[in-house]
Amino acid sequence: LVAGLDAYRDLPAETPDGHRITLYVNTGLMADVARGRERGAEGVGLYRSEIPFMLRDRFPSEEEQRNIYRQQLSAFAPYPVTMRMLDIGGDKDLPYFPIDEVNPALGWRGVRITLDHPEIFMVQVRAMLKAAIGLNNLQILLPMVSSVFEIEEAQHLLHRAVAEVQEEEKVTIHPPKLGIMVEVPSALIQIKDLAHIADFVSVGSNDLTQYLLAVDRNNARVADLYTPYHPAVLRSLQYVVKETHAAGKMVSICGEMAGDPGTAILLMAMGFDSLSMSASNLLKIRKVLRTVPMSVAKNLLEEALVIDNAAVIRSMVELELNRLG
Ligand code: PEP
Ligand code: MG
Repeated sequence: LVAGLDAYRDLPAETPDGHRITLYVNTGLMADVARGRERGAEGVGLYRSEIPFMLRDRFPSEEEQRNIYRQQLSAFAPYPVTMRMLDIGGDKDLPYFPIDEVNPALGWRGVRITLDHPEIFMVQVRAMLKAAIGLNNLQILLPMVSSVFEIEEAQHLLHRAVAEVQEEEKVTIHPPKLGIMVEVPSALIQIKDLAHIADFVSVGSNDLTQYLLAVDRNNARVADLYTPYHPAVLRSLQYVVKETHAAGKMVSICGEMAGDPGTAILLMAMGFDSLSMSASNLLKIRKVLRTVPMSVAKNLLEEALVIDNAAVIRSMVELELNRLG
């Protein structure tokens, strides 16, 4: 199977009827970078910056962070590398920053923590800016955004960091694009306002599915209720794409849905500009996109968006994929 997929490494992610979509890799460790490059990723759609933090026993210094980020950025330059600001809390624990909460999924997590601790935010963003000097392929992503105010605060800190680093390093710093993750129902419903002030949007469908369906993404007892084929999930995603494009911004998706053949073709039909996935799914998804014409994907999506039952949508999509081989 792998031998068959290898042929897809250097072929563009383009449908038989000529629709091109960008495929990015999700990274955390340098091993993901190597695998992503081997499998033809056109950049990093989600660098989970908390992963190197989780592997240490204290917060890495600005200099350490700069070195870690430089490796990610230089491995992919001139392709873009989208670095997510520290996303801890919820299901992601830092042993040296314990958070004890009754309901962590609805608690202090993601950008809520780093905006309450601007010193953590500033060190991280300064390290990213310094790491990108001379490469200029950095984009920054904010996790767990649920209001316009959080974006404004982050923009303010980013501008301050750009001025500081410019002064310290005596070079012109090009401000990176600042994007937001849509993972929370409030961000989905307010997407018009958020897309207006953010530079780009990336959907975190793992958390968005959890919060839309009120189903813990890590609870085996309710795992059969956790499905990206749920009509509420699919209709929400189509809405995010429409409104982000209406605001003149690009929209990507970096949750597990992007790396699953059945959902990937629906996402392509919705108009996502790029899909970001773990390296292990890149060749499989490129193969599927090169097999399914956009016209077929659009028809499937049109039907899927009026069906009221996740299982029916899923079987319909899987049947079509099997038919196309
Ligand atoms: C997501 O929530 O879909 C996402 C990509 O972020 P994470 O899985 O790291 O929470
Ligand atoms: Mg998430």
